[in-house]
Amino acid sequence: MSKNILILPGDGIGPEIVSEAVKVLVCLQDVYGLEVDMDEALVGGAAYDATGHPLPEATLQYAREADAVLLGAVGGPKWEPLDISVRPEKGLLGLRSELGLFANLRPAILYPQLAEASTLKPEVVSGLDIMIVRELTGGIYFGQPRGVRELESGEKEGYNTLIYRESEVDRIVRVAMDIAMKRDRRVCSVDKANVLECTELWREVATRAGGDYPDVELSHMYVDNAAMQLVRAPKQFDVMVTTNMFGDILSDCAAMLTGSIGMLPSASLDENGKGMYEPIHGSAPDISGKGLANPLATILSVAMLLRYSLDEPQMAERVEQAVNSVLDSGLRTPDIASPGTVEVGTSEMGDAVVKALQAA
Ligand code: NAD
Repeated sequence: MSKNILILPGDGIGPEIVSEAVKVLVCLQDVYGLEVDMDEALVGGAAYDATGHPLPEATLQYAREADAVLLGAVGGPKWEPLDISVRPEKGLLGLRSELGLFANLRPAILYPQLAEASTLKPEVVSGLDIMIVRELTGGIYFGQPRGVRELESGEKEGYNTLIYRESEVDRIVRVAMDIAMKRDRRVCSVDKANVLECTELWREVATRAGGDYPDVELSHMYVDNAAMQLVRAPKQFDVMVTTNMFGDILSDCAAMLTGSIGMLPSASLDENGKGMYEPIHGSAPDISGKGLANPLATILSVAMLLRYSLDEPQMAERVEQAVNSVLDSGLRTPDIASPGTVEVGTSEMGDAVVKALQAA
């Protein structure tokens, strides 16, 4: 039966990179018989301009009904003066929480062809392949109470709440364990159990859940050490699992080990494997409309979508291999260009991936 994908181009470079990813999906339909239907809807600043809200009810309804969502990026200077409740980023947060997308998967893979693009020495990062599993709908970003209050002295005080239930920790650790079973079978759970009671509980629950996976080696690390180890010896990690805020910070750090933010996809999954897939970068207003954006993170997000929500691992591999062969051929968008490579624009890069797919 045909699966339904909701396409949300969003703002800035979003529409440019998403249309290259759609070319890839169309090629998979035409050449390899992938059975999918695609609908498109508005989100972010584009949705605000058209409807006065960054996540219109119609978009949310489409997203609820779809098997998977492919998103470009949202936001930009045009919408920064808006009240926080209707800023483009609210559309994204709304989608994550309304769809119950609690598990954020962020692979940090260094393509050998791009080893020179990393700021770290090639021997430290070559062969890097980490999966960071970040809890996405709980923790300090959502905990209540939160706010800024005025004290009797007249001074203001800001406060947020770090809060996790056992069930929330258990389900995210199990996602990490299941992924590790298909990889090198090692999970490092990252916390701050020496200082924060909430993550002391996190460690306890992680250990308990890990007990159900005798084939996976579970270790624990404090977040400050994890940050240090990620830049010192990142290849020691296979799968990392952590809280919403720690994962936010560590995954950006891991992303930069690979050289370019334009190469990294992500998946956000619910309990049943339905997911939203997007590049980890933002809407890049500085290069928007110039045809310079790297579409590969979005195309690799399609590969994750095929693997995790459509259960099409072979199609996913085809896409990843096509990206690999395009990199082998020396084509590069400006963000990943180096001496001796051939610089191309967004649509030429998308066309090259489609050509490699057709030739495979
Ligand atoms: P950004 O990721 O948009 O850009 C950071 C830098 O990386 C820029 O120099 C940009 O040109 C470059 N870059 C990003 N994607 C690229 C690509 N595919 N190819 C080549 N270069 C690329 O981050 P920012 O500048 O901090 O934020 C810009 C806007 O995006 C803001 O409004 C922010 O809120 C929003 N944002 C959205 C998301 C999302 O939609 N998931 C994530 C992060 C930021």
